[in-house]
Amino acid sequence: MFGSVVVGIGTAGFVRIRDILAPLPSSAAEKLSVKGFISRILEEQQGVKQITVEDALSRDDIKVAFVCTENAAHEENIRMFLEAGKHVCVEYPMAMTHKTAVELWDLAQEKGVVLHEEHIELLTADFKQLKKDIAGKRLEEGFLHFTGGPLKPGFGFPAFSGIARLTWLVDLFGELSVTAASMEEDQQNKYMKMTAQLITKEQKPLTWIEEWAPGLSRAKDINFRFDSCTITQLPPATREPVGIFMQDLVLFSQKLLGQVPRDQLHAERRRILHCLELADRIQQLSLQGSAQDT
Ligand code: NAD
Repeated sequence: MFGSVVVGIGTAGFVRIRDILAPLPSSAAEKLSVKGFISRILEEQQGVKQITVEDALSRDDIKVAFVCTENAAHEENIRMFLEAGKHVCVEYPMAMTHKTAVELWDLAQEKGVVLHEEHIELLTADFKQLKKDIAGKRLEEGFLHFTGGPLKPGFGFPAFSGIARLTWLVDLFGELSVTAASMEEDQQNKYMKMTAQLITKEQKPLTWIEEWAPGLSRAKDINFRFDSCTITQLPPATREPVGIFMQDLVLFSQKLLGQVPRDQLHAERRRILHCLELADRIQQLSLQGSAQDT
């Protein structure tokens, strides 16, 4: 069994405890148990007790840490648990720079433990259907506009907090390059709009917008023009019986048990680092643009 600690009890942390307590029957996730959680506020959660960071790091029966804090605290927590020889599952994004993510991955390798970044957005039924629907089609031009809001403190620059959308684009269309990026911000009104211009290996343009403001509903507007058709809506897909966080938990547990093929692990690491590198570049170009405007 892999005894675990959950760090940060917000939406994601709550779900992690819930899923470890009731894992998918006959799946690798049954090998996890929850020994405690770390929170600055709560004492007890779903019958599980709070433990100290020192306990979590030093106890031999704790082998795994789930890092579910705001993005800004991921690096510190991951580093601390990896240093202590614990496996880590972190909610996306792993870190706020590409360089940090490379360092963390190298550290995991050095310690001989698993470092897993959750990507539930790739596990939703509508995304899986979209991927099937576009298979074999040649993209001419694409557009993805995400709205939500407003962005909570501690979640970082929109290219990182919105890494799920960037991961979609990379998973659908392959590795990308950034050709331009800009950012509009009105701090007083909690308004933010990031626009990134990307290009595929076949030199086809993709526009990615993240727009956050009070009152904006959480939505994705897509327009993917292919040689044979245009897709403007996510395909209808029946919700799968196994929830997306549970699917991710099973994948992480399979990694702990050494059941995931090496080439799959390699491809995943490459995709994650590529997305963080793009996010870095988008941030750089956006900030350069903002500096020139002032
Ligand atoms: P949240 O704000 O609901 O929860 C974060 C929690 O972490 C808060 O309760 C905060 O008090 C706690 N926290 C922060 N620093 C801490 C520390 N040092 N020690 C202990 N507790 C600490 O946020 P969330 O929506 O649960 O998101 C958490 C992470 O999960 C983020 O990285 C996010 O990108 C990722 N994620 C969330 C979802 C989702 O559906 N909510 C989906 C995918 C990924």
